Amino acid sequence: MNIETKCLHEGWKPQQGEARQLPVYQSTTFKYDTSDYMGRLFDLEESGYFYTRLQNPTNDRVAEKICALEGGAAAMLTSSGQAANFYAIFNICEAGDHFIASSSIYGGTFNLFGTTMKKMGIECTFIDQNMPAEEIEKLIRPNTKALFGETITNPTVNILDLEKFADIAHKAGIPFIVDNTFATPINCRPFEWGADIVTHSTTKYIDGHGISVGGCIVDSGNFDWSKYPDKFPGLTTPDDSYHGVTYTERFGKGAYITKATAQLMRDLGSIQSPQNAFYINIGLETLHLRMKQHCENAQKIAEFLSAHEKVAWVNYAGLETDKYHDLAVKYCPNGTCGVLAFGIKGGRDKSIKFMDSLELCAIATHVADSKTCLLHPASHTHRQMTDEQLKEAGIAPDLIRLSVGIENADDLINDLKQAFDKI
Ligand SMILES: *Cc1c(COP(=O)(O)O)cnc(C)c1O
Repeated sequence: MNIETKCLHEGWKPQQGEARQLPVYQSTTFKYDTSDYMGRLFDLEESGYFYTRLQNPTNDRVAEKICALEGGAAAMLTSSGQAANFYAIFNICEAGDHFIASSSIYGGTFNLFGTTMKKMGIECTFIDQNMPAEEIEKLIRPNTKALFGETITNPTVNILDLEKFADIAHKAGIPFIVDNTFATPINCRPFEWGADIVTHSTTKYIDGHGISVGGCIVDSGNFDWSKYPDKFPGLTTPDDSYHGVTYTERFGKGAYITKATAQLMRDLGSIQSPQNAFYINIGLETLHLRMKQHCENAQKIAEFLSAHEKVAWVNYAGLETDKYHDLAVKYCPNGTCGVLAFGIKGGRDKSIKFMDSLELCAIATHVADSKTCLLHPASHTHRQMTDEQLKEAGIAPDLIRLSVGIENADDLINDLKQAFDKI
């Protein structure tokens, strides 16, 4: 199947007489005939469902679809993108461990890694993702367990050099984890470039309609944990909380996801509700159509903005003059995403007046949604920061993040035009 067909037909595969659309298993528990069978489930000796905090059939079918789109071996849904990124790291890191992440990642992930996980004794070193590989390699320590980045960074829309990061990670014997939220598997499949684990905030394009918060983790199955038993003992030595099961021995390519489900979901419980999984499954059915339209519209708007006299700069990798154009052509040949960043001449006041003058494009915290929206980090998400601090985080004080939707591009351009006329 081609990827467009997979969007419709992967995951739930109805048998004779079964519902055509994925059923919502709105049930916390599952029934069994014998005590023995139930016991074997708890020992992970049988596969089956017992409690929705760990697994639910609706969620699993949707995870399977995302897994197929990414070309992975196993996947799980989580309650949010935050939970996905937390689990992805926490599944292989514990107190005393260290990992490396790009400093250009989403602000929520930056806080999670830099502040909250630090309190758990896990240290993250943030790097400029454009640093030469040799410089990044120098930061790897004996206790470093992962390398992390975003395919397309939020909100700066920089493209990550996936092959460079994969090489650095594999030389050091650690997995490369990529948040692929903005590109989606339609526009980039990081496993094809050597990534080991992919995460998503399904809240964004995968849902597509701004109706449900959710996340997903996909494992390529390619990282050989058993080659580095001292580094990843949680996967390669017996788990006492499951009668001594060793994940790599029992589950092979499913080891990482099984451990995250059996331990982290059991203990932390960041499960996605089956109803929300149902919504994102509907989103997935049209993801390929929407991504095409998002990219076409964003390209037109990026070109309009770069030609406008009141615009200071535009970041969109689809523009031939963009710093990331070559990387985009390599990793996202069919387009990057609908998000772009730009600055208006004249600073914060002009930006605010411009945004307040828009009629169709809405000011919203959301991003990567069917309806066009925008945000000025310096006045909204990052308003506690001074201009200096913003620059350190790589966010220009005049940066406006425009998330281009799937409306008619001319209507959007007309709205931008009339707002520019008012400043
Ligand atoms: C929004 C976002 C997240 C966090 O996801 P939530 O679903 O809001 O928890 C993580 N990574 C990226 C790139 C995002 O855009």
